[in-house]
Formats: sequence, C-alpha cells, structure tokens
Amino acid sequence: MEKIMVVGAGQMGAGIAQVCAQAGFHVVLHDIDLARVEKGFDRIVENVRRQREKGKITEQDENTTLQNIEITTDLHKGKDRDLVIEAAIEKMDTKKQIFRQLDKITPKTTILATNTSSLPITELASATNRPEKVIGMHFMNPVPVMKLVEIIRGLATSDETYLTVKKITEQIGKVPVEVNDFPGFISNRVLMPMINEAVYALQEGVATKEAIDEIMKLGMNHPMGPLELADFIGLDTCLYIMEILHQGLGDDKYRPCPLLRKYVNAGWLGKKNGRGFYVYE
Ligand code: NAD
Repeated sequence: MEKIMVVGAGQMGAGIAQVCAQAGFHVVLHDIDLARVEKGFDRIVENVRRQREKGKITEQDENTTLQNIEITTDLHKGKDRDLVIEAAIEKMDTKKQIFRQLDKITPKTTILATNTSSLPITELASATNRPEKVIGMHFMNPVPVMKLVEIIRGLATSDETYLTVKKITEQIGKVPVEVNDFPGFISNRVLMPMINEAVYALQEGVATKEAIDEIMKLGMNHPMGPLELADFIGLDTCLYIMEILHQGLGDDKYRPCPLLRKYVNAGWLGKKNGRGFYVYE
C-alpha cells in the first residue's frame, strides 16, 4: 500500500494529504478546479515551512513531503491508487457522485474511504459495487495536530479493509479507534448533545455564556468551554449534526436547541464569520 488519493483539497483534505505525504506515501490531491487545489497545496507548503522553522522537521523532510504530493483536477488520476480518502463537502449527493465515479475509475482492489463527520457510510457504500471496500476515516481538525482517527465500519465493510486502514492510520502517526456506523458515530454523538445542552442552559438563563464555559473548563478539565468550542466548529455545522442525530436516532432528546437555530438563522455562525456566542475581531 503506497499510493493514496485525497479528493477535496479544503481544510481537511489538505491536512490529510500533508500527513500522508509526511509518512512517505505518494499522494494525489484533487479538487474541482485548479485554484482550489492550489490553495490546498499552498496551505501544506505553509504548514511544513512552519514545522521546519520550529525545528520539528528538517529541510529535507520538508522537500520530500512536498515532492510526494501531486495536484490534479482529474479524478482519473485515481486509476493506480491503493486508497482514496474523500474529503469533499458534506453533501450526500456530492459524495455519492464521487464514489460512483471512483468505483469505475479505480482498480477493484482500491479501498474507498470517506472523512465524513456525519453521513452514513453504509449508504455511501451503496453507490459502489464494492461496499466491502468502503470505510469511514474520520480525521479531527486540525489534522496535522490531532491524533485521533475514528474508523467507521459500514454494514458490509470487510475485516481486511478495516485492518488495512487501521495499519495505514498508524503509519501516518495517528491513533485509529473502531466504531460502527450509527448517526454521529461516537465523536459527534457524545460531543454535540453536550454542546446543545450548554445552549439550552444559556437559553434558560441558568448561567451566562462565560460561566457555562468556565465551569466546563475548570470543573471538567475541558481545554475549551462548550460554547467557545461550538463557535470554533461553526454553529451551522453543530445544528446540522444535531439534525442528523435527531432524524437518524428518532429520539427527541437530540432536538436542536431553538437558540442554536436562531443564531444560525441570524447568520451568526461562529469564529469563521466573526460572531457566534462570542464576538471575534
Ligand atoms: P472545506 O469546505 O474546507 O473543503 C471542501 C473541499 O471539497 C472544497 O475545496 C471543495 O472545492 C471540494 N469539493 C467540493 N465538491 C467536490 C467534488 N465534487 N470533488 C472534489 N472536491 C470537491 O471543508 P472541510 O472542512 O475540509 O470538510 C471536508 C469534509 O471533512 C466534510 O465531509 C466534513 O464533514 C469533514 N470533516 C470536517 C471537519 C472540520 O472540522 N472541518 C472535521 C472532520 C471531518
């Protein structure tokens, strides 16, 4: 297993391509147009430059990493790949379309993985003729820093596929943790209801936003309070994942807090656009 393709060169895709290239894999990084794939590549150039300046890697490591990455807008570059990791936008239709095409382009032995944070792996796998070779590889943001990769087995994912992906995850210096395909997997199933509950507490006036965050930081040893973290993730993303949990699990305990919905409707999406629970300069 040597050749990897990453589809989608955004925030996550660029990070995934970087860590794979740093581990010595040859990586083809793909996006829909040249400007986007170049932007993803520039982000990697910037990241490895900073790592070298901090003395974390040598100049030779920096050069080798960048040489290991080829950029493209042509999905057919997947024709000689052993593993494809899809990190395009979080839309089922888009991802299914990519998986359908990859199923035709790549050899039958190629593993097709997705970095989705919320969409069902089993449904995505149904867009291919190789559901046993489809699996979730849920990296955390920022990819070069965060150790965890949640490995999600779809209904038909084979043991062989799982074991191969587990090994690659370890080779790129990450820690794989196995979960089954249920809405929100484990990470978002546990995290998002906590954030949602913090918003309910704010809505009900139980405490101020600062007090809620302070209690969770000092009392539970969380590095960030839940409302601060929600701003960092994006309030639209938090709402979207709560909706997935609510629909997928059918239990009202997952209903999104009306205050969260109100903020999103107001266009207060968090840190990325300057205003969420907090205001950012
Ligand atoms: P992003 O918007 O930064 O990047 C998405 C990229 O996909 C864009 O560059 C876009 O041009 C590209 N794209 C869109 N359609 C495409 C297509 N048909 N073919 C190829 N590329 C296409 O988003 P992101 O934050 O990097 O998220 C990507 C995926 O990772 C999503 O599935 C998301 O749920 C998941 N994820 C995100 C985070 C996070 O914190 N941002 C964490 C874990 C998982």
